[in-house]
Amino acid sequence: MRHFFSSIWLLLILSLGTPLAAHPGAHDHEKEKPVATEKKWTLVIHGGAGGMARDNMSPEKDAAARAGLTRALEAGSAVLDKGGSAMDAVSAAIMVMENDEHFNAGRGAVFTYKGVNELDASIMDGKTLGAGSVTGARYTKNPILLARAVMEKSPHVMLSREGADEFSREQDLEQVSPDYFATPERWRQLEELKAKKLGWYDIDMKYGTVGAVAVDSDGNVAAGTSTGGLTGKRWGRIGDSPVIGAGNYADNRACAVSATGAGEFFIRLGVAHEICARMRMLGEEANTAADHVMKELKLLGGTGGVIVAAPDGTATFSFNTPGMYRGRATSAGEKMVAVYGDE
Ligand code: ASP
Repeated sequence: MRHFFSSIWLLLILSLGTPLAAHPGAHDHEKEKPVATEKKWTLVIHGGAGGMARDNMSPEKDAAARAGLTRALEAGSAVLDKGGSAMDAVSAAIMVMENDEHFNAGRGAVFTYKGVNELDASIMDGKTLGAGSVTGARYTKNPILLARAVMEKSPHVMLSREGADEFSREQDLEQVSPDYFATPERWRQLEELKAKKLGWYDIDMKYGTVGAVAVDSDGNVAAGTSTGGLTGKRWGRIGDSPVIGAGNYADNRACAVSATGAGEFFIRLGVAHEICARMRMLGEEANTAADHVMKELKLLGGTGGVIVAAPDGTATFSFNTPGMYRGRATSAGEKMVAVYGDE
């Protein structure tokens, strides 16, 4: 009897798996159809979430953030428009924001308690589930390229501190003096934090981490995240941004996610992976999955936001802070940037 049922199952699986082969006529006909040439792609970026509101942002700061987001969207879109990969688009968009001192990544990264810049970054390819990340890097101009080199040129997923710096030199990535990352505004923020004598954690802080997720014209997704972490971090503290599954995740079977916010909470919920897992196993839409997980994060006491893109081109933002620097561009011509929650 058991044998009978397994034979039936086998037949069923074979016939479902090869419907066209069972009907050679239909197959030939399919082949003659013109191949669609339209290239569809989607790119979503963020430059951090936090207490940004219309009454506490100067017009200059607002304009600078929008200009930086626009440049990042343009860099990533140019890659996708030419038929480039989601991985290349994510890297290109993030590099622009790393080079822009208005964001907490690369140049303009926040200071540690000891007054240095320690950079974290991660990248993941949804097609292969390949991933690379670095934490506490100090000399690489574009940490996202170092994370990508870890993925592509090493047998590892995550490298830290002096080892990451050494690997970066070996890979001939552009090196800069640590002063390159430092800006007077970030130094002022460190002094302000120390003056508040809060310990090290400031819940009113704005998170300036950058991230990008993309779907390319082959339907592959990728995610990248880059940050200086939190102002005043100490004891070699590592946030969620370089932790695959927490601040970054990509899987062609579900979606690509990049996060920003209070890293400790994102790590505990495994936010980026959790969103993908809900989509893959529960069949949830991107916005349902993202909103659900961000609600859970809030219940734990965590604040921040995520960007999500699915292989079908669905793209969404979800954040539980007043604002999030964010932007989206698509092959259909959409190009938007926003800062406040009501936009
Ligand atoms: N998530 C980052 C961290 O915890 C901070 C940020 O998003 O700005 O290191």
